[in-house]
Amino acid sequence: MLKELTDLYRQEDRDLAPYAVRNSGSRGRRHPETAHPFRSDFQRDRDRILHSRAFRRLEYKTQVFLNGSGDHYRTRLTHTIEVAAIARTMARTLYLNEDLAETIALAHDLGHTPFGHAGERRMQALLRDDGGFDHNAQALKVVDELEIKYPSYNGLNLCWEVRSGLIKHRDGNTAVLDGAVLPAHPFLEAQVADLADDLAYYGHDVDDGLDAGLLNQEMLMTLPLWRRAVLPAEQAGLEPDSERYLAFSVRNLIDMMVGDAIRHSADLILASGVAASGDVERCDGALIAFSPEFALMTGELHDFLFENVYFHPEVIGVNHIASDRMENLFRVYIANPELLGDHARSRMERVGVKRAAADYIAGMTDRFAMNEYLRLCEHGERRRRRHSTSPFQV
Ligand code: MG
Repeated sequence: MLKELTDLYRQEDRDLAPYAVRNSGSRGRRHPETAHPFRSDFQRDRDRILHSRAFRRLEYKTQVFLNGSGDHYRTRLTHTIEVAAIARTMARTLYLNEDLAETIALAHDLGHTPFGHAGERRMQALLRDDGGFDHNAQALKVVDELEIKYPSYNGLNLCWEVRSGLIKHRDGNTAVLDGAVLPAHPFLEAQVADLADDLAYYGHDVDDGLDAGLLNQEMLMTLPLWRRAVLPAEQAGLEPDSERYLAFSVRNLIDMMVGDAIRHSADLILASGVAASGDVERCDGALIAFSPEFALMTGELHDFLFENVYFHPEVIGVNHIASDRMENLFRVYIANPELLGDHARSRMERVGVKRAAADYIAGMTDRFAMNEYLRLCEHGERRRRRHSTSPFQV
């Protein structure tokens, strides 16, 4: 007995809520393809992302703590896997399309530069007058343009639903895909992936912050959300500040946030009266959201993490040095475009040298960017100096 595509379609019709996105209703791909006998379109898209080079590179990209600085810190890859797991739980529990939510989650950070948010901020500064840089838009560019796999076009040729789900900033009718303005709020599976992203990093950045010694129990106890998260550890008689107490409390923190988001979203969906996935975009607000109580508490946690982790001098310091090097590398490429990779060089004429260099660097892992910096900037500089006849000639 085989589960074939028609069975998958039937399963979706039977199991999903009327407002979930279905494969059978997909707006399709830019380049039409024949259907796969065993996998739905969203399942194929998930697999395309898993098999992409950009996905594998997430392993060596910084999430918050510089990649390679500790074996337990989240990388972009482990962050992404946590987001996908949370998105699947939320989508399944709300009778939404789990495959689609998972796929968007797996692709959501493909556009991140090396060196975390410091790297992204630097890239934004470098491209301020040249169209800017946004990691969400870059994720779409990675799957639409930068991955090379198929004979007659670039990109992974993903479904419209996955591609549009990667576009997050939708204020003021500025978000456009294939010439059409996107609604302020996307379908529910994209909203799930978006909230799962926030929720995942709230949880794991507390964990990594504790691991790094930037946070401790005393600091965290100033947060109402943490005071609630530690109750099960207290009831179990664990010693405050012990490794088990903290790890169990991070676990409870994540579970509490996921539970609240699911329950409140179910209420919002019911109250909205949406009866089809297309109805969602006509709603005034997001339907996948924390309750007001949790929105307040997670907002406090968000601010707390910015103050005590993301902008901690220890985190900022190394990321700043790394970003300086990334900027140096960018300038070397602009001045010497022949040093760019083959694909980047082939795009130069169409997109300009700055954009080709930026896209090339944005795709790099931390370690590749660092090696390129050492090879082209530091060692290259030394070599050039050694070979020059005058100390002023570079
Ligand atoms: Mg993310």
